[in-house]
Amino acid sequence: ETQTETLEFQAEARQLLQLMVHSIYSNKDIFLRELISNASDALDKLRLEAFRDKDLEVDTDDLHIDLEVDAEQRTLTVRDNGIGMSRDEVVTLIGTIAKSGTADLLRKLKESKDSAASQELIGQFGVGFYSSFMVADRVSLLTRRAGESDATRWESSGEGTYTIETVDDAPQGTSVTLHLKPEDQDDQLFDYTSTWKIREIIQRYSDFITWPIRMEVERPDGAEDATREVETVNSMKALWARPKDEATEDEYNEFYKHISHDWTDPLETIQMRAEGTFEYQALLFIPSHAPLDLYMRERKRGVQLYVKRVFIMDDCEALMPEYLRFVKGVVDAQDLSLNVSREILQQDRQIHLMRKRLVKKVLSTVKTMMANDGDRYQTFWTEFGPAVKEGLLNDVDNRESILDIASFASTHDAEKPTNLREYIERMKEGQENIYYLTGASRSAIENSPHMEAFAAKGFEVLILSDPVDEMWVESVRDFEGKQFQSIAKGQVDLDTEEEKKTAESERDQRQKDFADLLSWMTKSLEENVKEVRLSSRLTTSPACIVGDAHDVTPTLEKMYRAMGQ
Ligand code: ADP
Ligand code: MG
Repeated sequence: ETQTETLEFQAEARQLLQLMVHSIYSNKDIFLRELISNASDALDKLRLEAFRDKDLEVDTDDLHIDLEVDAEQRTLTVRDNGIGMSRDEVVTLIGTIAKSGTADLLRKLKESKDSAASQELIGQFGVGFYSSFMVADRVSLLTRRAGESDATRWESSGEGTYTIETVDDAPQGTSVTLHLKPEDQDDQLFDYTSTWKIREIIQRYSDFITWPIRMEVERPDGAEDATREVETVNSMKALWARPKDEATEDEYNEFYKHISHDWTDPLETIQMRAEGTFEYQALLFIPSHAPLDLYMRERKRGVQLYVKRVFIMDDCEALMPEYLRFVKGVVDAQDLSLNVSREILQQDRQIHLMRKRLVKKVLSTVKTMMANDGDRYQTFWTEFGPAVKEGLLNDVDNRESILDIASFASTHDAEKPTNLREYIERMKEGQENIYYLTGASRSAIENSPHMEAFAAKGFEVLILSDPVDEMWVESVRDFEGKQFQSIAKGQVDLDTEEEKKTAESERDQRQKDFADLLSWMTKSLEENVKEVRLSSRLTTSPACIVGDAHDVTPTLEKMYRAMGQ
């Protein structure tokens, strides 16, 4: 006999639950997708763990998901015989939200008064298990971790606290029972005790789940002599293995949501297959928004590895480079061992070749998007551009292709970014280089004194304000034979021959006039600058600081200092 403990949800979890209880999200049906998705993950994990650990005493013969409806009690139960959770896991996994960006999301939600915007935010974040509280006023969960004998019962009404107790008789795996809210009772559309409704949701959102989802139904439905029988509701077809024209866009989108835990449709779906000596199928997605942790240290890559339809690992770094970490999807390789490890993958020549092809395909997909659908491309670049630009440093082989799909803010058009080809087409007669200026923000760059002469002469300058820009401009020399040239470094010659001649004599005169002042200033500022000289770059500012051609920029200097160098 153990006693029941009452615990509090973590503050962020509590806030998020409040939003669910009060149904901020309009599409309630997706709670079932989330529960099935968790059950499916749990089955994947169990199969893998049983395979890796031969001593684990579990039965993996009949892994499946069960749905059970009790119309009288108004409950719906989702049960799996997967990996299950220990008591500690229940407390940390269900009682708290470990997702990065939660605090940020909650702050934005609080600020946004507009309900469409809130929907969008919640949709981007996804709330997983907590979405149960959109349709249930009480949820109980019973779980036993594979290999353990004690089980855990958890229960909550979503209002601040939950109860937890250790119990000693429960089947391995997890069952989640929803006590459905009464208000939805009369609306056929929201009757989650209707097997018809449930079947519809599963076929819409979870058909591709590779485990059987079973439910007891009446056949023929509603007839006098109906008998009850168990039906497998999903088709279980691995979507990536199906020819492209046999699956609908909706199916791809739902599959994407399952593997990415995202609630919004992807921006782009990419399918690839290779036959022959090293056979594989890949189904990749470019999301329509950046995850909140895209620039955090602990972020993961989004490609899962399967071997012959069996899930092997998440976050497979051997399949996608760091700068494409936002790409989600599945790669199913036929010729690998189920035992394959991360270390083996890193060294495998075939995997290297496959990764090369995947990267090329992603980049070329973006290029096509750029040519055919400017708006979608803009979304892509706004969301992922700064990450993609990291590839200019790390993926030398694909530098040209990355520059090809890059776009930049520019002085040509304050509203619209430009790509490098467009920039080159607009270059002025006699202009040799691609001019740019880096800085901490767009306005800092636009207002930089360095800009003045360029603006006055009508030269276009790229405005590079992402931190990564500081880095790649140091190592990328040119694009299509045009060199990148910082307007803050060295001597930049903007004058025509004629202008030069007249300027020269003027300059000589001015040089004489100011000689005393300049030597005095050079002396006074000795500690801080190498030299003070007259400038022809400025039109309205009295002075500016210029770096030598090979100096690091002030922003980069700051970055190095922050990195402790
Ligand atoms: P996510 O699936 O995005 O991680 P969820 O809120 O859906 O977020 O689930 C939180 C965590 O709880 C899961 O990552 C998993 O570790 C655990 N979990 C949820 N449902 C189950 C289940 N049926 N079996 C085992 N673990 C589960
Ligand atoms: Mg989930």
